[in-house]
Amino acid sequence: MDKDENEKKFVTKKCPECFVYLKLDDEQCFHCKTRLGKVDKHGMAKRLVDWKAYLLCLLAVSAFVLYLFFAY
Ligand SMILES: [Zn+2]
Repeated sequence: MDKDENEKKFVTKKCPECFVYLKLDDEQCFHCKTRLGKVDKHGMAKRLVDWKAYLLCLLAVSAFVLYLFFAY
């Protein structure tokens, strides 16, 4: 119930990248386009980890390693 308490405590959250004030339910910073999660206990928005991009990156790296492995 930690998140709910934070949302009651704050009416705005701050972007962790450029420190502009945003609405609590904003999912993206209008200024720097960072994807944002919920507000934390300091009134800062949490950064969302982009799992899809992370997985794609991991796949690309493993494909490259496999390619190297089979090429030589
Ligand atoms: Zn921002």
